[in-house]
Amino acid sequence: MSIPQYFSATYSEARQKFLKACEKRGLVVENNLNPNAKGREGEELYMDVARLGPEDASKVLFVSSGTHGGEGFCGSGIQVALLEQNYLESLPEDVAVVFIHAINPYGFSHVRRVNEDNIDLNRNFRDFSEPLPDNGAYQEVHDMIVPADWDGPAREAAEKAIEAYIQKNGMPKYQAAVSGGQYIKPNGIFYGGSKPAWSNETLRAVTAKHAGNAAHVALLDIHTGLGPYGYGELIYVGDLDGIDRAMEWYDGEVTSHETGTSSSAPVTGTMNKGITESVPNATNTCVAIEYGTLELMEVLNSLRADNWLYAYGDVDSELGQKIKKQVRDAFYCDADDWKEMVWKRGIETIEKAIKGLAKS
Ligand SMILES: [Zn+2]
Repeated sequence: MSIPQYFSATYSEARQKFLKACEKRGLVVENNLNPNAKGREGEELYMDVARLGPEDASKVLFVSSGTHGGEGFCGSGIQVALLEQNYLESLPEDVAVVFIHAINPYGFSHVRRVNEDNIDLNRNFRDFSEPLPDNGAYQEVHDMIVPADWDGPAREAAEKAIEAYIQKNGMPKYQAAVSGGQYIKPNGIFYGGSKPAWSNETLRAVTAKHAGNAAHVALLDIHTGLGPYGYGELIYVGDLDGIDRAMEWYDGEVTSHETGTSSSAPVTGTMNKGITESVPNATNTCVAIEYGTLELMEVLNSLRADNWLYAYGDVDSELGQKIKKQVRDAFYCDADDWKEMVWKRGIETIEKAIKGLAKS
């Protein structure tokens, strides 16, 4: 089969492909049912987990998809292609690779970035007993981000206000205010929640189970929506002690917002914390691979539109369906050249991670 055929049009299709590919490889799949939500077609929602390599490996690589729901079309395609094409048939000694399919299956099925509670999981991994960060910057932009209507005067006023904000403060400041993570507006975007979400707790349990005795844990969490079309930026997400090691593994191509080299704004509560806190004694090398789709403003506007739709609109209306298409396009370029690009970069990166882990 050609690479594009391993990608899917819906969560259900993606899940079936993943399960079938695992079965072909003789892998046992753990199905973690999300008891709190159903899919767009009324289907059950699962975070599925499969492992290649020895049970007692001391070096474990997690390759995960769908932390941001609909971004899972990309990650799932890479996972399925890898399994179907018989990659990683022989792993280095003492190395295991764990595939996590659809960390946020609700968002994958409904083609949303967020989970069933409008939570951005990649802002949800924090200690909620500690004081929450100051969200003054988000407070300033919230009303522009979520206007009361999407095709009337409130929207028009919001667009003008955003334009003025960017003119005054610059695009990076707007991106940081919007996407940094906020804990004050449950109906806003990039909302981090008020307690650990189901996906957060489940991911921690999966990590503890699969890497409980590991000495070194690596993560490649697959995302889309930032950067140039089809290019996979490797964004370092661990604590900065490990960045030199990641640079070595990935041929110096790792970026970080701490060092000002990433297309991502500084963010808080990212999911690598769930991995490292579940195996506190292991060395960790965590990277998000972020594939570009559309221009940044188009992506941010699609997320605003989607947020408005679930706060005030009707998904089944004409406007609702138009917005859903806009969101899907921001997450996933349904084009063969894009799929070939993300696959090639994906498998090369996974192979580098395994090599790096083996040598560590
Ligand atoms: Zn993402």
